[in-house]
Amino acid sequence: MFYNFSRVTKKRTEALVFTFGITSFGLCILVLVVLPTFACSSERNKDFSIEYVSKSVYEDITPVVQLTATPTPLPDPEFFISKSAITQGGTLLLSVAGSIIQGSVTFLGFDIQLTRGDRSYYTFIPISRVAEVGMHKISISVTYSDDSEFKKEMFVEIIPREWTFYDFTGDSFENPTLLSSAQREDEDLILKETFSFSNPVKLWRDGPWLKPLHFNARITSEFGEERDYGDNLIRYHEGVDFSADEGTPVYASNSGVVVLATQLSLRGNYIAIDHGGGLYSAYGHLSAFAAGEGQMVEAGDLIGYVGSSGLSTGAHLHWEIIVHGTPVDALRFTNGLNGF
Ligand SMILES: [Zn+2]
Repeated sequence: MFYNFSRVTKKRTEALVFTFGITSFGLCILVLVVLPTFACSSERNKDFSIEYVSKSVYEDITPVVQLTATPTPLPDPEFFISKSAITQGGTLLLSVAGSIIQGSVTFLGFDIQLTRGDRSYYTFIPISRVAEVGMHKISISVTYSDDSEFKKEMFVEIIPREWTFYDFTGDSFENPTLLSSAQREDEDLILKETFSFSNPVKLWRDGPWLKPLHFNARITSEFGEERDYGDNLIRYHEGVDFSADEGTPVYASNSGVVVLATQLSLRGNYIAIDHGGGLYSAYGHLSAFAAGEGQMVEAGDLIGYVGSSGLSTGAHLHWEIIVHGTPVDALRFTNGLNGF
């Protein structure tokens, strides 16, 4: 019984060992050869499309064909600003060159869209007569042609300026009707509505702007002059006054379209030209108009004649430049002090 039992047991043991050996061999082949081959071919395919396999694992594999197109990065835009330090009442010209399709600027509470120009996107930035002195940040955001965004910060110093003062309370021409608050408010509203529109088309030509009179007229009142009209009414002069005889021709200081030619209480006969990009020039106290609303004018074109209409002590030209609704010193557009 024992022998037989031993023989049977031995044969069963041999059969078990044989079966185990075959199975183990098969498993080894599976584990060592077949699976790695599958895994390898699978990872190799991934390696050509997405680079998330560590290079050391497949450093012996050199891809022959690059299947993924690598986009060519767009060059960074170039930013230009006309001055890094500017006085109150001045204006900055900011431009951005590069493959961009739009942009905006935030500065001193202004949020201004860039206008497409001849070679760049640009905007004029007004420095109010009462702008706070010191260093201020300009934040610029532009959108590339591939819809990605690029942001840039620049700093500009605002420099204080001395202002002239004039006391109107002792003046004989004081006219209570013309100085009524209702008329002033009406006029302010008309101007605000006119100058709040920012025409996206550049109409002005590059270079210094022209003075509106053909001779070197004497300046009788500077931009920003503080004026005391009595009854606690203090305002500042929003233009520059030139002394000139009645009927002297007045010329457009740059190219644009006439958007206003009307009679106002304070400014008298007043003509305003839209130069594009939120920039306007305006001419007051005229005796007559030589251009009408909707008319395109070139720099130097005749637009009116000097007079003394509105609140005025005598014949003179009141000339303004307005940037994004803020009056600035027009003379600085003619003499390079704004850096353009
Ligand atoms: Zn004036």
